[in-house]
Amino acid sequence: MGEMKLAVVGAGGRMGRNLARAAHEMEGCELVGGVERAGSEYVGCDLGELAGLGRLGVEIGDDAPALFASGIDGVLDFTTPAASVQFSELAAQARIVHIIGTTGFKADDEQKIKAASRHAAIVKAGNMSLGINMLTALVEQVANALDESFDIEIVEMHHRHKVDAPSGTALMLGEAAAGGRGVSLEEKSVRSRDGHTGERRAGDIGFATLRGGSVVGEHKVIFAGNAERIELSHIADDRGIFATGAVKAALWAKDRKPGLYSMKDVLGLS
Ligand code: NAD
Repeated sequence: MGEMKLAVVGAGGRMGRNLARAAHEMEGCELVGGVERAGSEYVGCDLGELAGLGRLGVEIGDDAPALFASGIDGVLDFTTPAASVQFSELAAQARIVHIIGTTGFKADDEQKIKAASRHAAIVKAGNMSLGINMLTALVEQVANALDESFDIEIVEMHHRHKVDAPSGTALMLGEAAAGGRGVSLEEKSVRSRDGHTGERRAGDIGFATLRGGSVVGEHKVIFAGNAERIELSHIADDRGIFATGAVKAALWAKDRKPGLYSMKDVLGLS
């Protein structure tokens, strides 16, 4: 069996460069291509040079359909919701692995990705790090053990360039808390508070978003009871953890049957 041939879409992005490095460095796979959106300043650049690996002779193109159909085995995608939905359709046509780290999807985007997963093995996760997925499992367990006398609040902070809020990871932690309690996050979530909000409703799951500086990603889940509080938190120091997780997910998904998988599946936490 040869090495898994991987390409990076959004190759010029913050995560794109980390993904290129991880795919180049990890055993079992080979970095074979990259695309950017048409008009991007990175089209025509060498993927290796952009990722700080030195020249690899792999040029970043802008023709995603051609890349998906070029005989590659999988694509690493941390781009935008609109782009990732299109890429999932291309992955389904080419019957290749699609790893989606993009966040900020709407419900109908999620449905389109689900439909594409009938023909492609797709791993999608709002956070690809081992630590966050471990935290998610712990949050579910704690939420299951404690009743509504413990108020759940989720606080996150990211760099000033992040465009969606709350973060995909915060929502993933919210889903875990709601799942542990056997309630629907949609019904219980309070995404923001401003002005005269009234008292906190028992059972709500609150979110608070901080943005600033170069923070890679910090998440804290607070279980606030009467006179005591549990805080579970995770701090990401380097984007490399997400990229390594994404490449591991691709290697895991190789030769799996089509379907929509999560990092829980990849890490054996499900
Ligand atoms: P970024 O803006 O630096 O990079 C995105 C790149 O995608 C850009 O270079 C952009 O030009 C490119 N792009 C957009 N549309 C495209 C298209 N149609 N074709 C090809 N390329 C296209 O953003 P970023 O900080 O790298 O984050 C990207 C996404 O990944 C965000 O949604 C972010 O929340 C998410 N993210 C997820 C994780 C995780 O572990 N799941 C970790 C970090 C970031």
